[in-house]
Amino acid sequence: MRTPIAAGNWKMNFGPRQAQQFAGIVRDPLNAVTGAEVVLFPPFIAIPTVYNVLYGTHIGLGAQNLSDQLGGAYTGEVAASMIAELCRWVIVGHSERRHYYGETDATVNTKTRVALDADLTPIVCVGEHLADREANLTERVITTQVRGSLGGLPAEQIGRVVVAYEPVWAIGTGRAATRQDAEDVIALIRALVSELYGQPVADALRILYGGSVTAANVGEFMASPQIDGALVGGASLKPEFVDIAQIIASAKASS
Ligand code: PEP
Repeated sequence: MRTPIAAGNWKMNFGPRQAQQFAGIVRDPLNAVTGAEVVLFPPFIAIPTVYNVLYGTHIGLGAQNLSDQLGGAYTGEVAASMIAELCRWVIVGHSERRHYYGETDATVNTKTRVALDADLTPIVCVGEHLADREANLTERVITTQVRGSLGGLPAEQIGRVVVAYEPVWAIGTGRAATRQDAEDVIALIRALVSELYGQPVADALRILYGGSVTAANVGEFMASPQIDGALVGGASLKPEFVDIAQIIASAKASS
């Protein structure tokens, strides 16, 4: 039994004041969700504020990125050990980091190791571009990303990793993947992880879908036994995220 996850990636939205207000609105209803891990990912500057709002609840808190360095003279960077003072989670290799900030599979691999060493739970993102899908390259792209991003991690830590399949063409576009498309790629990711770490690790791995998830479509994804939750961008900035978390929890409880 894999505990499902409802993860809300606020991206570069909500400074400390707005974050406090929004977290205050969703705190109690999210805390009432049972049967799923609910995690919020505010911008770095709002993490301490949201930490205070969520204190005493079982809602998780995470960062959207981390440095590949452990500390020291890296202006503007935030180390895993610093994040771990307030958070248990971190997103690694989001497609926006890969696209706008040049993160490669090697960078993602290093950051995943650094996150694991700091006892953080990394959500490692993979996903193909529209041009890849149209050229029938999805399998090849995902295979390269999974092997490059997740290969060679310490066996005793791999159980903590979560993967998010986020087709780039579905992120923020309102055009979600079909359940079948998501299921096919998630099955491929599980098979690749089995090749890397063995079947028991692959069976226990939680794999999320992300890309234009809403309260209206999340139930369809959650009906798939392959899909263990959702990484939600736009809809996590609205009270709708509470509905999404409830749907994830109840869909998995009844399956
Ligand atoms: C994301 O940022 O990870 C994401 C999936 O965004 P959206 O839900 O807005 O498509």
